[in-house]
Amino acid sequence: MAWSDFDITCMQRALDVAERGRGNVRPNPLVGCVLAKDDEIIAEGWHDHLGGLHAEQMAIHDAEDNGHNTNGSTAYVTLEPCNHYGRTPPCTEALLWAGISEVVIAHKDPNPVVRGNGISELIDAGMKVRCGLLEEKANLQMREFLYWCENRRPWVTVKIATDKNGSVDDLSKNAARFTSHECLTKVHELRKDSDAILVGANTIVRDNPSLTVRLVETDNQPLRVIIDPNKKIEDDATVLTDGYATKHLTTEFRGLESMLDMLGDLQIQRLLVEGGPITINHFLENNLVNEFILVRSDIEHNDPVIAKFNLESFTKIKETNWGNECVTLHQC
Ligand SMILES: [Zn+2]
Repeated sequence: MAWSDFDITCMQRALDVAERGRGNVRPNPLVGCVLAKDDEIIAEGWHDHLGGLHAEQMAIHDAEDNGHNTNGSTAYVTLEPCNHYGRTPPCTEALLWAGISEVVIAHKDPNPVVRGNGISELIDAGMKVRCGLLEEKANLQMREFLYWCENRRPWVTVKIATDKNGSVDDLSKNAARFTSHECLTKVHELRKDSDAILVGANTIVRDNPSLTVRLVETDNQPLRVIIDPNKKIEDDATVLTDGYATKHLTTEFRGLESMLDMLGDLQIQRLLVEGGPITINHFLENNLVNEFILVRSDIEHNDPVIAKFNLESFTKIKETNWGNECVTLHQC
């Protein structure tokens, strides 16, 4: 398939506006849409929040609001338009009513049985359809959604912070906070982009954290998941009393695999493991980690706790900085 520069510009814009829904649309995927006519972008839309308009419908509204006639225009959509009645009427119908003559799609729907076959519906209605433009980028943008569709389990991201020597904790009395504000903000962005955050009981007993998203704006807090088979945490722990949702797994905990199945059934598409080294190594030993984020500070702990993580089956794919901290991203 030959794509023009203008095709690529339009689909890239659709991918960019799709990002505006990040953290607010799950269990739906991020989707963006651009309408173009006579080599000019006339409207754009994105799936903004769960229950809100789909990207295609928002783009059609955007065109109308700005006095553009959508008749004969081309729609660039990052995901195959839906063809089922969900919270809104099908986007295939909306595109037909708007007189769109061509639809360019980045990524096919991974679950056409549930969402209806949008492409064949459009072709049957006489529209020109082209697929696969910037497909890899769309694939990356919808990574957790696609993984969940295929596996019915969440994509598992581990995040661990260490000092310069690989110590995960400072047992000395006046241990200083060793994370910069910029780094903490990044961690909260990561939490916002996760449907659930998991720690072991020891983390709760020691730090009594809230595990909420606070440094960035959000409409919904991730589910907290606490693994506590020996019932170690107190009833007045913050995660049990602050009013936000928590799954406190005690005697019903039957291992990580069945827990991941359970979380998948709850439509948890991304699980962030923020626990200590015991919990993290438990995930690693069972090959249940998709992505490992190592945050390394350049300070040194006074009374260090060195932890080892076996990342042999992982490839380092990125190195960056979050404030003062050096961050490496490893994928399985
Ligand atoms: Zn739709």
